Amino acid sequence: MPVSSLGTSDRMTKEVVIVGAGPAGLILARDLARRGVYATVYDGKNRVSDGAAKASGIFSKKGLDTIGIDFSGAKVNELSGAIVHGGGESIAIDADVTKAYVLDRGRFAETLAKEAVSEGAKLELARRIDKERLMDLASDKDIILVGADGAVSTVANAFGFPPVKEYILTYKAEYDHADIDRSDRVRLFFNNRIAKRFFGWTVPYSKSKIEIGIGISSLSNKNSAAAFNDFIRMKEIDGAIGNAVRTVGYASIIPLTTRKRTVSGNVLLVGDAAGQVKATTGGGVIFGSACAMVAARCIAKHVFEGKPIAEYEHEWRRQYNLDLELHRMVHRYYSSLGNRSLAVLIRWAKLAHADRFLGRYGDMDSPYLMFKRLFLRNLIQ
Ligand SMILES: Cc1cc2nc3c(=O)[nH]c(=O)nc-3n(C[C@H](O)[C@H](O)[C@H](O)COP(=O)(O)OP(=O)(O)OC[C@H]3O[C@@H](n4cnc5c(N)ncnc54)[C@H](O)[C@@H]3O)c2cc1C
Repeated sequence: MPVSSLGTSDRMTKEVVIVGAGPAGLILARDLARRGVYATVYDGKNRVSDGAAKASGIFSKKGLDTIGIDFSGAKVNELSGAIVHGGGESIAIDADVTKAYVLDRGRFAETLAKEAVSEGAKLELARRIDKERLMDLASDKDIILVGADGAVSTVANAFGFPPVKEYILTYKAEYDHADIDRSDRVRLFFNNRIAKRFFGWTVPYSKSKIEIGIGISSLSNKNSAAAFNDFIRMKEIDGAIGNAVRTVGYASIIPLTTRKRTVSGNVLLVGDAAGQVKATTGGGVIFGSACAMVAARCIAKHVFEGKPIAEYEHEWRRQYNLDLELHRMVHRYYSSLGNRSLAVLIRWAKLAHADRFLGRYGDMDSPYLMFKRLFLRNLIQ
């Protein structure tokens, strides 16, 4: 039972159905279309930008180059530094070049959708796919079903994929009329009492507009809105808000661990549905999209060369699991520290001039590359 009138090539008998028009689903559809595999993306939303502002939009320059999107229409701000706070201490890390961009997530989503459609993918909005329909689709062996349906994945649940073991519950709000001295720096606040197993943040959009947010582990017994209220009462945050006016606020969720399996028969998971997220920061767009590009390559090889679709599992783990695992290790370490230990760590980092090293060699996405640079630098000295 075909779900769409796909523009299949003569050699193609398979249909690809992607559930979810977030970054992972749209990049997958774009890359499949470029490889001559035309897919249909279904999403329950009326517009791809709906709800996009629930998440922040900080992306490394290098990561955006990897996924190859013209993001200029979505750019809000440029970032070159960060101040990390913990246990009453702080350390500033500054680079002399732009390291990351803040993008408007709604406009970014529209850009991704436009590109996927212009390459030939089909996008069906206001079409939520329920469990029964998913079962029906997957029973057709000519259909490849991809769950790109986010952190709480219906596809993963419907087909019994292993669970995500920990989530981060988030709350972010935006403020106008703020008075920000450095609009090129994010600030991160580690405090295991208020932001259990994660952190709070401020992201400047401009000199007068700021985002303030917090994440807490699903293993804590608090909700993120309550944690946010505690967070904005902290001295440093209260000072940063000043007379600024809150405009919007949203709660959301980030998966913190990767699922143990992401392929089952003709069903695949990508992006947040698979847990392809940096556990240190919760950033999932670059890794999720990079894994979606791997999925597109593997699906095309399956369709045109008969290669097993399970190659996707092997390939994305080969390319990205080391970095994702390093992010998890760093997360496990910082989330185990109480406020006194955080203060000692920051004091030690300052003595060791970690700020200079991170400003120069810091890599938001790849701890592996960063550790490699550290190792090589020590070897040369
Ligand atoms: C507060 C916060 C801040 C963040 N900050 C950053 C950041 O700065 N940088 C970064 O890289 N990442 C960030 N992230 C994470 C990032 O937003 C996600 O990793 C990314 O959006 C995941 O993309 P995705 O395509 O896998 O899933 P999603 O973006 O969640 O898209 C899934 C889509 O599937 C649709 N869907 C779900 N179920 C169904 C169904 N049954 N039928 C049809 N459609 C369905 C949904 O409507 C949705 O559109 C942040 C997240 C949060 C919550």
